[in-house]
Amino acid sequence: MTDHPTNLALQIRKEAARLGFAALGFAAPTPQPVAIKRVTAMIEEHRNGEMHYLETNMAERTNPALLLPNVQTIISTAISYNYPIEYHDGFPKISRYALIEDYHTVMRTKLEKLLAAIKRIMGEPLAAFIAVDSSPLLEKNWAEVAGIGKTGKNTLLKVPSAGSYIFLGEILLDREIRSTPLMLPNYCGSCQACLESCPTGALIAPGKIDASRCISYLTIELKREFTPDEAAMIGEWLFGCDLCQEACPYNQQASISAHELFTIRQELLNLSTEEIFNLTKSSFRKLFYGTPIFRIGLRRLKRNAQAVEENLKKNGDDLTRETSGKVTLK
Ligand code: SF4
Ligand code: SF4
Repeated sequence: MTDHPTNLALQIRKEAARLGFAALGFAAPTPQPVAIKRVTAMIEEHRNGEMHYLETNMAERTNPALLLPNVQTIISTAISYNYPIEYHDGFPKISRYALIEDYHTVMRTKLEKLLAAIKRIMGEPLAAFIAVDSSPLLEKNWAEVAGIGKTGKNTLLKVPSAGSYIFLGEILLDREIRSTPLMLPNYCGSCQACLESCPTGALIAPGKIDASRCISYLTIELKREFTPDEAAMIGEWLFGCDLCQEACPYNQQASISAHELFTIRQELLNLSTEEIFNLTKSSFRKLFYGTPIFRIGLRRLKRNAQAVEENLKKNGDDLTRETSGKVTLK
């Protein structure tokens, strides 16, 4: 028999904490016109670069009932990967989230365990759908509705005490579970640190990103070869970019640190461009299998390494390095 809804929410929260989630909240699957408008504007203003998949599946992304018929609740969760890291000059940089086990696997396993616990707690059969990034769902929006975080001027969700170094995952249920969401403040105030830290001007306004100028997009999502401008833009970043997160004071103060399953793969630290160039298909697989980098393949990784090598060489000529690895064009 189903427990009282408030008790139920509490028990699920406790289970989530036990499993190491940094946050969990419940959202009703109501229409989200503001979120739809935001995505539509990005596409209409051609700020999605060549991520054409964003132009399709709009119906699924905006209507979770297409993922789970009769969906009543979206459980939004976050896991932290906030761990300290020090980059060394002269080496290509890899975004924090890619130096660890691929979060898709870790998050899905955690959500499966949480779902099993929910079924146990509720004691009745229920239909559910687990979503981890690859499923079309406006997950940042649902996280906000569920009250687990607030989107900052860098367009990333900040979770109280955990900051923005978090992964999101959702469980859709055909049962109604409600809990009053936290009313979170606007954390940013007059801060502009992320906009000022972005070396490519990808953050064109508070909360507005032009993906085609973002190093993360260029090094991870863009499939073709770089134009000379794009190659120069990536600076020293081999995969991803964390500059607008490193600059955020909420990440510097975050008290929740990385989940214990997210430990750095030491062999990925301080890889040289030469080591990347020398990789064969099998050594690439050996080194990167199980990390997000494996998903872009060896050709694109070498493309990135080539651009980084040229940028490192130019460093001191037409590039001026600023603090924390930031690179600005003169
Ligand atoms: S990830 Fe890097 S390039 Fe993209 S918006 Fe943030 S600072 Fe700019
Ligand atoms: S750096 Fe400042 S403006 Fe940017 S997301 Fe963080 S708090 Fe907001």
